[in-house]
Amino acid sequence: MKQLGKYSMGIGDRFGHQAKAQLSAIIKAKDLGIDITPVWNKSYREHQIIHSQPSNTRLKADKAVNELNWREDYFVDADHIGIATVDLFVEASDFFTIDVADSIGISPEKVSLDKFVSDNAQFIGELELPGSLLKIVVDENTIKSAGEKYLTAAKHAADIYKLIVKLKGNNDFIVEVSMDETDTPQTPTELFFILSALSSESIPVQTIAPKFSGRFNKGVDYVGDVNIFQKEFEQDLMIINKAIETFDLPKDLKLSVHSGSDKFSIYKPIKEALKKFDTGLHIKTAGTTWLEELIGLASAEDEGLEIAKDIYAEAYNRYDELCGPYKTVIDIDLKFLPSIEEVNSWNGEKFSQSLRHDQANSNYNMHFRQLLHVSYKIAAEMGDRYLSALEKYRVQISKNVEENILERHIKLVFPS
Ligand SMILES: [Zn+2]
Repeated sequence: MKQLGKYSMGIGDRFGHQAKAQLSAIIKAKDLGIDITPVWNKSYREHQIIHSQPSNTRLKADKAVNELNWREDYFVDADHIGIATVDLFVEASDFFTIDVADSIGISPEKVSLDKFVSDNAQFIGELELPGSLLKIVVDENTIKSAGEKYLTAAKHAADIYKLIVKLKGNNDFIVEVSMDETDTPQTPTELFFILSALSSESIPVQTIAPKFSGRFNKGVDYVGDVNIFQKEFEQDLMIINKAIETFDLPKDLKLSVHSGSDKFSIYKPIKEALKKFDTGLHIKTAGTTWLEELIGLASAEDEGLEIAKDIYAEAYNRYDELCGPYKTVIDIDLKFLPSIEEVNSWNGEKFSQSLRHDQANSNYNMHFRQLLHVSYKIAAEMGDRYLSALEKYRVQISKNVEENILERHIKLVFPS
């Protein structure tokens, strides 16, 4: 089984042009004493929208690694795959994010549920958490209700895991189980029993992505009560530590935070909790790399700005189509979207300030940013026009991509 390392980061790249800039942020972090394993992740949804192949993600990752002489581990993540989509990723990937969110809440067979309840009856009473005075009260109902909600999902994860092993011919890959793309958060107590179920199914899960409370919208700050999040996140870390000592699970099991980019208001509590409980973390920050490309293009004025404006105009007209697949992870208020005419009158500075996530800047518009976040399909349709602009404005874009990952993410999230 491969090891992911204590800290790791999902650095997706929609168009496969920024792997080097992304890796160079990780290298600079290493020089500062923060060791992070880079994971290039791209989901089936993204590949399908762009018409790209996982083999291309692998190619670009390998190339960046060679060119920058990276000697440490790195991975290519088949992000959010299921039974129907795993095939495509088997060869290129050595990290699989098994998405079972759709199986949550499907009632298991009575016999499986009964077995789950009796297997976990040993936890009835007060569950002590390592490194804390906190105790979680568990009764039979706690276990039964966790089983009703999550047992089918755990069994589904096992089916997918076994299929990957069969197709790959080995188990030499990282396993993540994700449940984040759903409406209801999982409580720390539920997380404990989910891990119990995954262990019973013999899934060597190394990262688990729960849905936390609050909104993790794409590319914008956390929406919710930071104090509630902090309490929940700390409890989740304790639960992870407890599960490692209780169940037959990999010792390097850790939490995975999806849609983790730009969650500035919770980075401090996350960093403090990681230190406090001495636990690892995987954080996925994929989508914002493409926004850094757009910011780079817009600030280059001329042709770059024209492309950025054309993408917005098209995105505005195709709002439903673009936002549909992302409805659980965006919150756009239409009345705050600038009109096409208005945006067409902007200069590069106004466009990039509206898009760049700097809450102190009065031009920043989170609705504009979220719409563009999900509009990479338009850039893909532009084909060469977009890709050759990425080349033309490479220097400026690389600087943005690297700085965004290093200064606005790594340094704020990971303890040094
Ligand atoms: Zn996700």
